[in-house]
Amino acid sequence: MLDVVIVGAGLSGLTACHHLQSKGYKVKIYESKGKVGGRCRSDYINGFILDRGLHVFCKESKYVKSSIQTESLYLSESIYPGALVYKNRDFNLVPNPLRRIKDSLSLFFNSFMTYRDKWKMANYLSFLISNNEDRLKKYSQQTIEEFLRKRGFDDYLLNSFFRSIHAAIFFDDSLQTPSNIFNLTVRQIILERASLPAYGIGSIPEQINEKLEKGSIVLHSKVKQVFSDGVELQSGEFVQAKTVLVTVPEPDIQHILSGHKSEIKYNRSACMYFATKNPPVNSPIFVLNGTSNGLVNYVFVPSTVQPSYAPSGSHLVCVSLNAHINFENESLIEDVLKELIDWFGLKVNDWTHLKTYQIEKALPKIEDYNQAELYRMKEGIFFCGDYFRYGNIVNAIKSGAVASKAIDTYLHSGEHLLGRSNSYSSRASEIN
Ligand SMILES: Cc1cc2nc3c(=O)[nH]c(=O)nc-3n(C[C@H](O)[C@H](O)[C@H](O)COP(=O)(O)OP(=O)(O)OC[C@H]3O[C@@H](n4cnc5c(N)ncnc54)[C@H](O)[C@@H]3O)c2cc1C
Repeated sequence: MLDVVIVGAGLSGLTACHHLQSKGYKVKIYESKGKVGGRCRSDYINGFILDRGLHVFCKESKYVKSSIQTESLYLSESIYPGALVYKNRDFNLVPNPLRRIKDSLSLFFNSFMTYRDKWKMANYLSFLISNNEDRLKKYSQQTIEEFLRKRGFDDYLLNSFFRSIHAAIFFDDSLQTPSNIFNLTVRQIILERASLPAYGIGSIPEQINEKLEKGSIVLHSKVKQVFSDGVELQSGEFVQAKTVLVTVPEPDIQHILSGHKSEIKYNRSACMYFATKNPPVNSPIFVLNGTSNGLVNYVFVPSTVQPSYAPSGSHLVCVSLNAHINFENESLIEDVLKELIDWFGLKVNDWTHLKTYQIEKALPKIEDYNQAELYRMKEGIFFCGDYFRYGNIVNAIKSGAVASKAIDTYLHSGEHLLGRSNSYSSRASEIN
């Protein structure tokens, strides 16, 4: 009999499997899709690497270092620390003054922000840096909009800068995220270096997959129902195990576990990839939409920092769209290009559309950051995934690693042998 059966081969499931196998447990993962990686995957089309929604990678966390050999990812140089904001038919550089001291002078002279706004911005940055993570986590519960307004930011900067940054990170421009989550994320962006792996973001889960014992993952195997002592597959087969780890996005749990009520909403995301010989910008910088309307949230050219993302002589352009766009719109590609002609001029007409991704459950909408847990165990079934914090690679890996430790303790203690009086019935006892 297996020790653990894991539902889902995303980053959290793969990480948990790796840690458990390295402790000697018999573990198998059942994955509904034909590939590992979940939301962190890449496609390879005509020499272009298309991440399923642009991902950037920060390698600094200790959990990342214990699960991934970052040298084997051949990470690019850092993405430019800062952004260009398209506003009033102009591109305004907003650099990270900690890492681009010289460029900060341009901020001082540009007219995108008033001197008072620049002062408020400097104060905000100093607040983020002078408070460590633990202090920021405890910071009183309020939305980031309330927080920023209290620091004196008015509609102008909220609408032309913060909304667009918020949408780029969380796929939602509402500014309703708890302030501590926004502040922690922006602090991470300011202090850490973000880069792209040479073979696409999907090479991260692939690398963990390669460390697993052969035959650990069964692809194209959708789990139909979860019990405390195993899972029933869509095919009707029952796979018995001492315990089960569920790593699917939270709203999907209700489809496989009777009695589960979904508590977390997700933001959706959409992005378009184009090929061109003349990139709209020549450096790896995010170009944000500061106009507070339109279809586009940001434009980024991955091949300017990681040339492997496009064949020689070409560039790959990623256009991230605002979450409220109508996916049914048949002229969406033309509309997006038309909007970008305003930004970059007629050279946009030469772009060739490669692919559009629409991801319905892209990132969990975390409304309360007070929860301390990174996994959950309920009636003999374990749960983990990025939704225990907020959606990112580090949190998914961390959640899988912490859940595997808890499973180790649980199996070691022999608690699973004591029998579980629970509402999640045990399928094996029904069969016996
Ligand atoms: C567009 C986009 C951009 C992002 N950008 C970044 C970024 O820049 N930086 C960053 O750090 N993070 C980013 N993220 C977040 C990151 O990708 C996720 O946080 C992480 O991949 C989540 O991993 P997970 O294991 O928790 O869940 P998932 O990846 O969702 O894994 C769950 C797995 O379960 C499988 N599954 C579901 N139901 C079943 C079933 N019934 N039976 C069997 N298998 C099932 C799914 O197919 C999937 O493989 C981004 C995400 C998206 C969508």
